[in-house]
Amino acid sequence: MANKKDIRCSFCGRTENECGSILLSGVNGYICADCIQTANRMLSEYGLINDDAADDVGSAYAKGKGAKAKKAKVAAEKRSVPKPAEIKAYLDQYVIGQDDAKRTLAVAVYNHYKRLASQQQAGADEVEIEKSNIIMVGSTGTGKTLLARTIAKLLDVPFTIVDATVFTEAGYVGEDVESILSRLLQVADFNVKEAERGIVFIDEIDKIARKSDNPSITRDVSGEGVQQGLLKLLEGSIVNVPPKGGRKHPDQDYIHVDTKNILFICGGAFDGIEKKIAQRLNTHTVGYNSVQNAMRLDPNNLMQYIVPQDLKSFGLIPEIIGRLPVLTYLQKLDREALRRILVEPKNSIIKQNAKLLEMDGIKLTFAPDALEYIVDKAVDYKLGARGLRSIVESIMRDAMFELPSSKKKEFEVTKDYAAEQLEKHLVFQQQA
Ligand code: ADP
Repeated sequence: MANKKDIRCSFCGRTENECGSILLSGVNGYICADCIQTANRMLSEYGLINDDAADDVGSAYAKGKGAKAKKAKVAAEKRSVPKPAEIKAYLDQYVIGQDDAKRTLAVAVYNHYKRLASQQQAGADEVEIEKSNIIMVGSTGTGKTLLARTIAKLLDVPFTIVDATVFTEAGYVGEDVESILSRLLQVADFNVKEAERGIVFIDEIDKIARKSDNPSITRDVSGEGVQQGLLKLLEGSIVNVPPKGGRKHPDQDYIHVDTKNILFICGGAFDGIEKKIAQRLNTHTVGYNSVQNAMRLDPNNLMQYIVPQDLKSFGLIPEIIGRLPVLTYLQKLDREALRRILVEPKNSIIKQNAKLLEMDGIKLTFAPDALEYIVDKAVDYKLGARGLRSIVESIMRDAMFELPSSKKKEFEVTKDYAAEQLEKHLVFQQQA
């Protein structure tokens, strides 16, 4: 018999080390647990065995321990999903402020994974919990992507970010919406089961809003058509996914992915939506009581009053809004928040720079007035927290080049140094 290390699955060609477990299948061949699972799924798709049997056989072989293993897995999964308060505490380490969004996300994600666990155990009479995809509205650079990314890191599930603007309706130049799932499959190393419980962040969802509130009579290939395409993914269906992404092609083999349990988090800046919110609030504020209510509204933060109707006024179709039942918002970052973002998060920009130089044995510090200066510039450029990174990178560019080959053991960024470096860079001079 061949050395156990050299045994490869006769179907996918991987060794036991690569795929977990390999079983002897016949006189001259071997098969791994993943391929058994795939074969079972195919048999069930062709109606040769029933679904449950395929699932059971698949996971039993995969774990090599049968039904007991499945139960243990369900229990372990339930235990391993952190409680909403724990999720929020984790997010607090990386994301500054945005408490409403954090709380909403924490609950939605917790419920999503509870729902997955309950499905695995469900009997026929159980209450079926519906999936709750999420939509986050907030200006650019306020932390939408960061929130989604941080949650995915905590849960250790496949996670991908896609930009809604690259999609067009089938048949036009651009990508098919199905390629969203190709990316998820890629990050899950083509493990379909894993991908089917992943998280997808769809950025710039506002850019596929239709141009007016009325259904258009002209073709709108990058707006409403894409929304219709997305619907199919959001509501949960079996989707044919081209493994390499891009356009679907008749000669291509597809992977079938069930989107029922994939959590979709959408984000968008929805520039100008505050006007729509204000309009709605105004039209409702007629009469004495309403005037009283209006006075209680905070005109500087209208985003907090957002409701699904505002998304419709902005141009999302009602079906999409219905499939994104959890709506939350992110606040604009004020000066104080920007300052905290600069230094507080576990991987703040300042800490990252310090760590880089520490590897060369150099201690990097920023004088307090240098920090204030950076925050002032970020406020001027109106790029949210995103501006902080480019400002710090510009300030540090020369130092990062020179310090590693110098004899210095310490380096302090003063306000004067920061200003001098920043002014050297044309981009900022032009913007300022
Ligand atoms: P967007 O809302 O446009 O998706 P991002 O999440 O991509 O914004 O934020 C851009 C960068 O700005 C992030 O990588 C992060 O460094 C920083 N950032 C934005 N908002 C926050 C926040 N609330 N707390 C900490 N860092 C933030």
